Amino acid sequence: MLHKLFNRIFSQGSPIPSSDSTTTELRIIPRKQHGLTRNNISPCAIKIILDLQKAGYLAFVVGGAVRDLLLGLEPKDFDVVTNATPEEIRALFRRSRIIGRRFRLVHVMCGSDTVEVSTFRGSSSADKNDEVTMHKHADEHGRILRDNVFGSQEEDAKRRDFTANALFYNPDSEEIWDYLYGYNDIQSKQLRIIGTPLLRYREDPVRILRAVRFAAKLDMQIDATTAKPIGDLAPLLQNVPPSRLFDEMLKLLLCGHAETCVADLRARGLYHGLLPVLDMVHTHILGERFITLVLKNTDERVQQEKSVSPGFLFAALLWHEVLAAWNKRKAAGEKSTPALHMAMKNIMAAQEKKLAIPRRYDAIMQEIWAMQPRFLGRAGRRPFHLLEHPRFRSAYDFMLLRCESGEIDMELGNWWGTFQHAKVSERENMLFKNEVSKKRRRRRGRSEIIIGDIVNTNSVSSTAE
Ligand code: ATP
Ligand code: MG
Repeated sequence: MLHKLFNRIFSQGSPIPSSDSTTTELRIIPRKQHGLTRNNISPCAIKIILDLQKAGYLAFVVGGAVRDLLLGLEPKDFDVVTNATPEEIRALFRRSRIIGRRFRLVHVMCGSDTVEVSTFRGSSSADKNDEVTMHKHADEHGRILRDNVFGSQEEDAKRRDFTANALFYNPDSEEIWDYLYGYNDIQSKQLRIIGTPLLRYREDPVRILRAVRFAAKLDMQIDATTAKPIGDLAPLLQNVPPSRLFDEMLKLLLCGHAETCVADLRARGLYHGLLPVLDMVHTHILGERFITLVLKNTDERVQQEKSVSPGFLFAALLWHEVLAAWNKRKAAGEKSTPALHMAMKNIMAAQEKKLAIPRRYDAIMQEIWAMQPRFLGRAGRRPFHLLEHPRFRSAYDFMLLRCESGEIDMELGNWWGTFQHAKVSERENMLFKNEVSKKRRRRRGRSEIIIGDIVNTNSVSSTAE
């Protein structure tokens, strides 16, 4: 009844096409149509849902998990949504705790699993079907600052980002509840924002990054109306708190399709001045090659389910900025090591204001960068000390990417590749002779070697040998 009334109010004037994502009409899709079974759902999520239902509440699996299963992908996790309040959920499950300040939700533990259980929320401007209506808790650009008002299931569907992310699965009836044609959109691989695109991006500009990420990761098309305002709204991302931007950017970079995502961000004009971490490098040919390699490498690792270190990734994304700042300082007469440390410090400080890389990654980034010049030392005990460094592996992988991108000579990478796996006696034979290294050091004292010039340095030392 309510849905029909709602639709009638919405459709006054002009008829609304069936796939318009501002229209709400509950469709219940039975198991024989969608094909998912409760065996696809984590036993922990099922137990929580059945317990909530037994206590008289509505409860469903929601969002990414339903979408992924329909697309034949393995969900990362199973989120549960219910009409029980956080306190009511907490009271039902002994091993649970309420978390979050902005969004209060409950973590329910069973075995070693934790399932996030949240209460239906409402109050999105998507309810209003009006481009100029601003959310009551929004800033001057329309960005929502508070969004913790409980609502009905239908309102909960509408405050989500894309129709594909707004499906509810009930493991008891094995039905999918769909208010926004999300099921059809998944079948036709259309990524469609819910409500009025302009308003929804203004409310939360990271939805722009999410659109790009989901399209690449799920191999979906961003529907034309959803895509249209994206290019013009790029500046809104500058208004997002840097830590939020970091979280969403990290998800994008670690989704296994970072290369496609970054190319897409670029094609949509979401690039310059917007994501500083990727800005400068693409204007520089060596930086461009380096970033492409890093992204390819990251995608491969994610797809092979290998771990990826965000510290390594951000060290790589910022490397050419550090390198440029370092070279500039050396050219102005500063000593190499202090110049590198100052360059690192300045680039990290500048970065913090835009896309805040959490402090916990500082140490690894700094170590990887600071170790790069040490790969040049191939005489005496220095290579042995470097091998023992706890971050040797990361710094070496990083240096190899620099070789592969053409920034430095592959000969250096090959030498370290052989050296680290060689027997001790063979290592001694590989060392550069002391007098050569002394000569190099003297030469370095006269005119500082720029890291980009290592090609020449190596050929000089090899011939001198
Ligand atoms: P992933 O597989 O990447 O985790 P996901 O869809 O589960 O994808 P989450 O970031 O975990 O993404 O969010 C869970 C759900 O919360 C989404 O499916 C969506 O319904 C909703 N959601 C998340 N972020 C937003 C947002 N910025 N605006 C509106 N709804 C959102
Ligand atoms: Mg998720």
